[in-house]
Amino acid sequence: MRVMIDAGHGGYDPGATSNGLKEKDLTLKLALDVAEDLESLYGIEVLLTRTEDVFISLEDRVLKANTAEVDYFVSLHHNAGGGTGFESYIYPGVDVKSNFTLFAYLLFTLLLKIHFFDVSFDNYLHPYE
Ligand SMILES: [Zn+2]
Repeated sequence: MRVMIDAGHGGYDPGATSNGLKEKDLTLKLALDVAEDLESLYGIEVLLTRTEDVFISLEDRVLKANTAEVDYFVSLHHNAGGGTGFESYIYPGVDVKSNFTLFAYLLFTLLLKIHFFDVSFDNYLHPYE
């Protein structure tokens, strides 16, 4: 399985900002941590759209994903207002009973491990029922 993890924002695009924190920095740290865990714990091949604080256009992110022919592309963001916890938005038409479910669960587990908590995962996926 080959996946691409996209750290949202970067460079001159900070994303959401609050209390001195910038979304672009948080997404990059999270992407690097998740990539390391997916590789070391699960043997999943992980590509990153960025590994440093650079701006990448939406078009270039899509191009990277399509060129690398990844099985899954996950874009990480930290929302600024309204709601808390982990939300997963799944591209329409994806069969959530396929091995996408397994990948989503692995990702969800990793996020829980670093103290995110879920608000919507159970609404979408029930992999172990
Ligand atoms: Zn964002």
